Amino acid sequence: MPPTAPLPDPEGRLLPLLTEVRACRLCAGTLDPRPVLRLAPESRIIIVGQAPGSRVHASGIPWDDASGDHLRAWLAVDRATFDDPRVFGVLPMAFCYPGRGDGGDRPPPAICGETWHDRLFAALDGPRLSLLVGQYAQRFVLGRRRRRTLTETVRAWEDYLPRCWPLPHPSWRSRIWMRRNPWFADEVLPRLRARVAREVAGSL
Ligand code: SF4
Repeated sequence: MPPTAPLPDPEGRLLPLLTEVRACRLCAGTLDPRPVLRLAPESRIIIVGQAPGSRVHASGIPWDDASGDHLRAWLAVDRATFDDPRVFGVLPMAFCYPGRGDGGDRPPPAICGETWHDRLFAALDGPRLSLLVGQYAQRFVLGRRRRRTLTETVRAWEDYLPRCWPLPHPSWRSRIWMRRNPWFADEVLPRLRARVAREVAGSL
């Protein structure tokens, strides 16, 4: 895909609200606040992920890690397209790195989505697709429409169109998951790439 033109002021009228988010310290007692998100009013596809990892916490750049590389490969988009907020908004379930727990990164604090998501989504022009990356995003957005397991929810992707598309989290663990669920690469990813390519073309 061709690189998109640089944006002098991609946040536009969202700037006051995004400035408010970036000053948020609601979780200061349990984590080191550094909100990482990316939006433009016209963001066409919203990536609703889990929370930044340690590398993203350090760089301040969304999906600036191996999981991001894996996600871009799933979507078949290059870095310039992925980083254009007119195309992809990045709005995880928590905007700050939650720190390490026993089995990996701690879960995203629920207060973040509860505090910010409705306000931020309401400020957008009307994204055409939300990618629900991982169980936390699926639980928050789909609620009772979610299936019994993440695998069942991802397999039922057509039930959530045209506005939502559930995906596994593209961490290293997803490589094992993909080996157990070859239908994802064979059947889902080609359809996902076609949809994303249409939205990218429509946003430029
Ligand atoms: S995780 Fe969300 S609610 Fe908590 S401090 Fe960061 S921006 Fe605020």
